[in-house]
Amino acid sequence: MDVVIFMSQKMPLPFFLQYFHYLCRNFVKMKCNYHTHCTYCDGKEPMELIVKRANEIGLDHLGFSSHAPVPGENDFAIDEARIPEYVKEIHSYQENSKTQLFAALECDFIPGMTQPFDHYRNDYNMDYLIGGVHLVRPVNDDRLWFIDGSKREIYDDGLDQLFDHQVEKAVTRFWEQTFEMLEQERIDIIAHIDKIKMHNQHRFFTEQEPWYIALVDHALDLVRKHDVILEINTRGLYKKRCDSFYPSDYILAQARKMHLPFVISSDAHKSEELDLYYNEAVAKLKSFGIDQLVYFDNKNWHEYSI
Ligand SMILES: [Zn+2]
Ligand SMILES: [Zn+2]
Repeated sequence: MDVVIFMSQKMPLPFFLQYFHYLCRNFVKMKCNYHTHCTYCDGKEPMELIVKRANEIGLDHLGFSSHAPVPGENDFAIDEARIPEYVKEIHSYQENSKTQLFAALECDFIPGMTQPFDHYRNDYNMDYLIGGVHLVRPVNDDRLWFIDGSKREIYDDGLDQLFDHQVEKAVTRFWEQTFEMLEQERIDIIAHIDKIKMHNQHRFFTEQEPWYIALVDHALDLVRKHDVILEINTRGLYKKRCDSFYPSDYILAQARKMHLPFVISSDAHKSEELDLYYNEAVAKLKSFGIDQLVYFDNKNWHEYSI
């Protein structure tokens, strides 16, 4: 994955390309969503309906990102055997879609359990990959703590049963898994980087505690080191599971200082969610002085102004 920085000193472009990118950055008003689920995984609506809606609301780019397979029986990830059909179906809508479509996966990283992400990128010719942590594996334990989903009880039970309610230890494990993913796997976008806060609901830890901030800071250093794109993910807000975007204000402020690239993701699971809180996300980013996003041209990610 390669984030092309305009007028970069490191990467001089031919003049006409510089000029083209300059025009894009200043005049192209794009609306993109690269994080979308459909009925191939835990999405609630078929792909066709989501493509139709994307065209109706004038999305320029729509990326499907089904949950990649995870070990064990589950009803939220795509069956590996269906991935070729998934990619083919995405491509089949392109001819009649003004919205440009992309085939991607949201890959879960579980140490020692999930397949190398390059397997999906290369063997199924994915356009890009999103990486994320939804299942936390305690050290030397095969059980998994599910930190996502609609049920807070599952989060609370996992914290008690897998971590003996040692909150710092459990939350640290989430971030360590994130570090490992960033170091080991090649990803384009990191999904909802601070998802761990969702079911916490300000009960067991605060995001201002020094140990928590140190973990976040390290994750951001790795995001920069590996040229990964952050997403501002609106799902927590519109599902009313969280009172802030992923990521929180502290991360937005640091990301601005570090010049980290962003996309806006609604993480839609049905068509009506495609652009929920999009404008609010733009306003949020701008309030932190972040006035550029990136779009994908099928090869590289490029900045443009919002
Ligand atoms: Zn996710
Ligand atoms: Zn998702």
